[in-house]
Amino acid sequence: MLYLNGQFLRPEDAKISALDRGCLFGDGVYEVIPVYSRQPFRLAEHVRRLDASLASIALPNPHSAAEWMELVQAVIARQDYDDQSVYLHVTRGSAGERDFPFPQDVAPTVLINPAPLVTPSHEQKACGVRAISHADFRWLRCDIKSLNLLPTVLLREAAKRAGCAECLMFRDGWLSEGAASNIFVVKDGVIAVPPKDHLILPGITYDLVLELAKQHGLPLQVRRISEAETRAADELWMTSSTKEILAIVELDGQPVGLGQVGPLAKRMDAHYQDFKQTVMRAGAAC
Ligand code: PLP
Repeated sequence: MLYLNGQFLRPEDAKISALDRGCLFGDGVYEVIPVYSRQPFRLAEHVRRLDASLASIALPNPHSAAEWMELVQAVIARQDYDDQSVYLHVTRGSAGERDFPFPQDVAPTVLINPAPLVTPSHEQKACGVRAISHADFRWLRCDIKSLNLLPTVLLREAAKRAGCAECLMFRDGWLSEGAASNIFVVKDGVIAVPPKDHLILPGITYDLVLELAKQHGLPLQVRRISEAETRAADELWMTSSTKEILAIVELDGQPVGLGQVGPLAKRMDAHYQDFKQTVMRAGAAC
């Protein structure tokens, strides 16, 4: 069952106008919330990021934070599987015509569509994944979780065709992020990650990795990282709500470090998995 504009519906019964601005222009924003054992992870943070994305595109938030949390919980409760990936989006609705400026008095479209949560396989965790790179040709507001995902579609397709799981992006010689993940770099035992600014999406997993590093005394720097530094890294990790912490062992056909999952990736992933079992699944304050 999904949620669309106030109704819980079977996917085949859910209908959206062909003139919805999400469909015509990608005029909307979205979230993906991981759910473990029916406990949404950091729901309040996801709702806050959604609110920030909506404010950035001047789309009034149709719900209070409390209403969003209630709606997401209601959707989770209606599924017959426990681990879920809850996709939600809000668009500027349909004015019945194709015109760029904001329409007046048009209700936004709210869709909440869950799916079973698919996390990396045992083999991907054990062996790591491969990545390609590309110039970051996206716009300058990558902090907005926008429905305009054409760059992600093109870059992930290029990665897939190359037998890779992700595409790292560089802008003016600096690492920004992956097509759909944040990127961490390890050199000489020190973890580094680019700062959360307008050039990357402020990942919820990014925050958790910073917290776990601090909690377990692992050195971590938040700073700009050059392309040369990225290519000379001992370890590269991609992080996201569904990929968790996944080691990248090859970039553009070259081994990253020793070309294996590195020691810090293993340690951090162990901390993450432990946190998942003890805190996330328990729905404890997380
Ligand atoms: N960066 C981009 C461009 C993304 O699309 C995503 C997630 O989809 C992330 C980073 C990671 O964000 P999160 O950890 O909140 O899933």
